[in-house]
Amino acid sequence: MIIDTEVHVIYRMFPRELDPERSLVEPWTWHELSGDLLVAEMDRAGVDKAFLISYGAEDLPLMIEGVGRSSEEFISGKKYHKAFFRKYPERFYWFATVPNPRRADCLETLQKDFEEGATGIKIFPAQINMNLNEPKLLEVVNLARKNDKRVMLGLEEATEKTPPLMSLLQQLDSEVLSQFSDVHFQVNHGGCIDPLSSEADAVFRMARRHDNLFLSTAFLGYVTMERGYAEDRHEYPFPTQLKRLKRLYEMVGPDKLMFGTDWPWVEDCRKYIQDVDSVRKHADFMSAKDQEKFLGLNAMRYLG
Ligand SMILES: [Zn+2]
Repeated sequence: MIIDTEVHVIYRMFPRELDPERSLVEPWTWHELSGDLLVAEMDRAGVDKAFLISYGAEDLPLMIEGVGRSSEEFISGKKYHKAFFRKYPERFYWFATVPNPRRADCLETLQKDFEEGATGIKIFPAQINMNLNEPKLLEVVNLARKNDKRVMLGLEEATEKTPPLMSLLQQLDSEVLSQFSDVHFQVNHGGCIDPLSSEADAVFRMARRHDNLFLSTAFLGYVTMERGYAEDRHEYPFPTQLKRLKRLYEMVGPDKLMFGTDWPWVEDCRKYIQDVDSVRKHADFMSAKDQEKFLGLNAMRYLG
């Protein structure tokens, strides 16, 4: 069983009609990266299921502003994601991005998402400019707990205008994960700290301390779009990513890490199957048993 713990669908991004300077090698500028295409890529790569995280421009203001774009240049959203979740219920688990918890209808929106089949929620604390220990956000986590749902966190895009990354990690480690020890949390991009840097100790310690924490591993070291994404670009088998994965694996062990691709964000430079093969054929630092855990069994425990 192979489970990809981070994917999205995008109708169009930086469309050529608005951005004629963009290159044709960026597929989103001229065609759809749909759930149909994603399922075809999953079939070719032998991936059984994926965590489909729904978001649109309203959920990612910092990312879009950070690259000097406007919301009309990123066309996707909950409705679009849900259409494919409904079409392929046996292939996707749906995670709904949490709207700004300061909105009066936030909890009501999420309750409806749960009733419509969401497996869990995705929180981007930087995008909503909130600390993880703020009462409004804890109410959201509590709602997930009451509904027996999973929580996913994207700590990327933290800048000087948002709560800093190290504070978010600290809040997670010392408050949130213990307060909600019965809720399973997934932190994406390995916590957004380069595992080869000394700051990564914070992530290693946190992962070892909390049984309810899992780390998804798409683009390890990714902090903000502006500072670079997927450094290996098209250099198969993505040696920097593998080096970081190896370090993380050595520091947190085989039971915490989950495979993720973040498709289709780097469709301009690599194919989906290569991200899977990079692990299957080149992560030789993992035993066959640990590779099975990484590619799917840990995700099944997270879903538990
Ligand atoms: Zn993502």
